[in-house]
Amino acid sequence: MTAITTTMPKTAPRLGRIALLALALTATVFLVAFEQGTLTGGLPVLHEAFHDARHLLGFPCH
Ligand SMILES: [Zn+2]
Repeated sequence: MTAITTTMPKTAPRLGRIALLALALTATVFLVAFEQGTLTGGLPVLHEAFHDARHLLGFPCH
């Protein structure tokens, strides 16, 4: 009897985690620094929520 074995590359899960982390960081930077109401139908809810953090990090907004 012959067992069929497959080997998965060990780097695949690690690359997946790195890709998810990069996506999360990119989304966070966008939400904190650049979102001006695009995602909330023109209301600057996220802009106001992150306003102090935006100024603390040195991103211009007004
Ligand atoms: Zn401001």
